Amino acid sequence: MHEFNVCQSIINTVIEQVAGKSQNRPNILKTTVVIGALRPLVSEYLTFAYTYLAKGTAAEGSELILKRPQARGKCSRCGLLSERVEGSFRCVRCGGEKGEIIGGRELYIECIEVSN
Ligand SMILES: [Zn+2]
Repeated sequence: MHEFNVCQSIINTVIEQVAGKSQNRPNILKTTVVIGALRPLVSEYLTFAYTYLAKGTAAEGSELILKRPQARGKCSRCGLLSERVEGSFRCVRCGGEKGEIIGGRELYIECIEVSN
């Protein structure tokens, strides 16, 4: 499952970030991750994988908050931005069928909440 690989690197990054900032290991409470809707990753699996992989690490017991922003496309002809691009693109203003995807492929850690 791809979700496990993604969660493993999230947890590695989180632990690295937190360990680098403090001598005494703080508890990780929450990790907020932004994963665009175009990423073929299932939220439920991610949550499960995160909980599983966090066991025995500084992230154990912490909560994974997922943000799944919708895909966004920009019409190549008139430049209109639209919220959803699924499969084929069709501009609602000019009918253009070519769109550049400018969102929905995000994958990054937005914030890490820790306690001392
Ligand atoms: Zn257009």
